[in-house]
Amino acid sequence: MWETDVILVGSGFGGMSCAALLAHYNFDVIVCESHSIPGGAAHSFERQGFKFDSGLSLTFWSIILCLA
Ligand SMILES: Cc1cc2nc3c(=O)[nH]c(=O)nc-3n(C[C@H](O)[C@H](O)[C@H](O)COP(=O)(O)OP(=O)(O)OC[C@H]3O[C@@H](n4cnc5c(N)ncnc54)[C@H](O)[C@@H]3O)c2cc1C
Repeated sequence: MWETDVILVGSGFGGMSCAALLAHYNFDVIVCESHSIPGGAAHSFERQGFKFDSGLSLTFWSIILCLA
């Protein structure tokens, strides 16, 4: 029997951000993902040696870091 404080459905940016914050504040978190690869629209895949982003390729935070 599993015991946890929070169960999050989906390992995209939304789920993973919530999970990271909750874990930071000492909550036990389980993230459930239906896909074989975590990350949701944020993951990537390879074909014939080329890597493709499934969704986003540029995030707000990467812009901030580049400008800093
Ligand atoms: C082509 C494309 C380009 C984009 N480009 C950019 C960009 O350049 N910059 C930017 O900031 N944003 C971009 N976005 C938007 C960004 O990717 C999304 O806003 C963000 O990833 C959404 O995160 P999310 O966690 O809400 O959802 P998602 O990333 O969709 O994650 C949801 C997860 O939940 C899982 N799931 C769903 N139902 C269940 C279930 N019943 N049980 C278990 N798991 C489940 C899914 O498999 C998925 O992994 C783009 C989106 C697309 C599609």
